[in-house]
Amino acid sequence: MYDVLIIGAGFAGLTLAYQLRKKSSDLRIAIVHDSSFPLDDISDKVGESFNEIGAVYFDQMLGLKEFMKERYPRKLGMRFFKINESSYQEMGYNNFTPNHAFHFERGKLENDLFDLVKDKVDFYLNHKYLDFETVDGEKHVHVLDRNDKSSRTLKAHWLVDAAGLKKLLARKFDLTHRLPLNHSSVWFRVGGGVNVDDFLPLTSDNPFTTENRSWSSIHLEGVGYWVWILRLSENVTSVGIIFDENMYEFQDLATWEKTKLWLRDNVRVLMDYLDEEQFPIMDFRILRRFATQSDYWVSDERWALVGDAYGIWDPYYSNGFDLIGMQNTILTELILAERAGQEIHQRIQGANRFISDVMRGFAATFTDFYSRKDRWYYICSKYNVDMAVYFPILATIVHNSLESMFVDEDPVFRDRVLFYLEEGGGIYFQLIHLLASDEFKNNGVDGYDYMPLNADTYHAFVPEMDIPYHEKERVFPILEKNCNLLWCVFHYLKSGRNYMDFIKNGAYFAITEQTDPERYRDNPDQLEADLFHSA
Ligand SMILES: Cc1cc2nc3c(=O)[nH]c(=O)nc-3n(C[C@H](O)[C@H](O)[C@H](O)COP(=O)(O)OP(=O)(O)OC[C@H]3O[C@@H](n4cnc5c(N)ncnc54)[C@H](O)[C@@H]3O)c2cc1C
Repeated sequence: MYDVLIIGAGFAGLTLAYQLRKKSSDLRIAIVHDSSFPLDDISDKVGESFNEIGAVYFDQMLGLKEFMKERYPRKLGMRFFKINESSYQEMGYNNFTPNHAFHFERGKLENDLFDLVKDKVDFYLNHKYLDFETVDGEKHVHVLDRNDKSSRTLKAHWLVDAAGLKKLLARKFDLTHRLPLNHSSVWFRVGGGVNVDDFLPLTSDNPFTTENRSWSSIHLEGVGYWVWILRLSENVTSVGIIFDENMYEFQDLATWEKTKLWLRDNVRVLMDYLDEEQFPIMDFRILRRFATQSDYWVSDERWALVGDAYGIWDPYYSNGFDLIGMQNTILTELILAERAGQEIHQRIQGANRFISDVMRGFAATFTDFYSRKDRWYYICSKYNVDMAVYFPILATIVHNSLESMFVDEDPVFRDRVLFYLEEGGGIYFQLIHLLASDEFKNNGVDGYDYMPLNADTYHAFVPEMDIPYHEKERVFPILEKNCNLLWCVFHYLKSGRNYMDFIKNGAYFAITEQTDPERYRDNPDQLEADLFHSA
């Protein structure tokens, strides 16, 4: 009888096993996985970049930052380009953000994670999960040994579906539904280091530095689509397209030959560059209409859905591993609390509320987003608005409060954190609404062709990391200030001013350094007069 049986040794399953074992040496853990290890470094999967929460998950929760630093290239934040007839516009970072985010060959990372856990949990490799039923409170899990086609039954208290897009348990319980996004993807890996400097060369008025530009998560923006370029190593680059099927025919990208033509029509500079370099094309993959979500992810019946088995909106910000990090961290606390004899019913409700709040945020982020990307100022504003809730609210909570919310039964603390998550979400919804309005569309602001972002802004948004449990209340003044910060952004944008000036002039820092920041909240004139000179 296992305490926890995980289906699927992908990213979510392997990290969950590692995290559980790190926190408890006597938990009986097994993973049922339908194939074997090692994988090829370039696997058939997608998801090759962390965002900040994923990065902090690897550092703070898993303790694997140093391990990752030795093995994978560090990501220089996100970098956005809009390519015009004979010029381009660019927004990105010159310096690394304080956390260590990475790009990685997915197969190599899963091989590494497997090596880290293989002697610490029981593996049933080449075993396929078939079904389960509950007998006297135990889960009887039926699996098929793919080697000799025999079947066997494993017993477990908790059952976790980490088997990805197959959504084994969500389908069994009829919980999964398609989201109102018609986004699909094609991607390929090339055997060479794609260097943006070669096809989007720096101009004399461009403030970006050369040597690291290519190590960002590159977004080439278009209406109804974007192209990612991720340097996975010196010699391998991942290139992919996410496109809205309401605007582009899937058939026009259904094969590698067609995708080449599509790229030639839509992103000619990239295709010309790839042709010229003659990099070998290592693979070509397709995933259609991937946006799905389940009604909830953790059940009182002691099963849970993590990662793609639960849901995905859109990979524009590499949020897949953020979601996995949050779910694994919460689930680890729930499993350990129950094992320690605690009642966890209310915490399960809190866990479902937390993740569904996060998914509501993603819904606002991505609904009707791609069709609006015709204007550079919109693209810049949207990214900065999204980050102005992601860092100050979500990342602040995840880095400081997520474990504390679930480690023991403190409904007052948990509800108060959820209050701020929802309060921040509420302001964010208003911001998104504003960005989508005619008022914003027709405000006549152009922004800047080259928009450098300050990586240190992270410290303004997240001034503390890893607040200890016994001081957990310290997060509330930060969240209060950060909600105020969001209101300042809202009123600044609403007044029709150039939001990029707000950012360039260091207003985020200046506001958070104020003892009485509320007075700037709906007073952009005052904000400019008092704070802009402090950049
Ligand atoms: C186009 C695209 C790009 C993306 N890019 C990013 C990105 O850059 N960054 C990011 O954070 N996220 C990204 N995501 C999201 C990311 O793909 C997911 O977060 C991540 O891959 C999910 O991992 P997982 O462990 O849930 O599933 P998987 O990695 O698919 O693992 C599931 C495992 O379960 C096994 N399995 C399946 N069925 C069974 C069975 N019956 N029995 C036993 N085992 C089984 C499979 O072999 C598999 O290895 C992207 C998503 C898309 C669609």
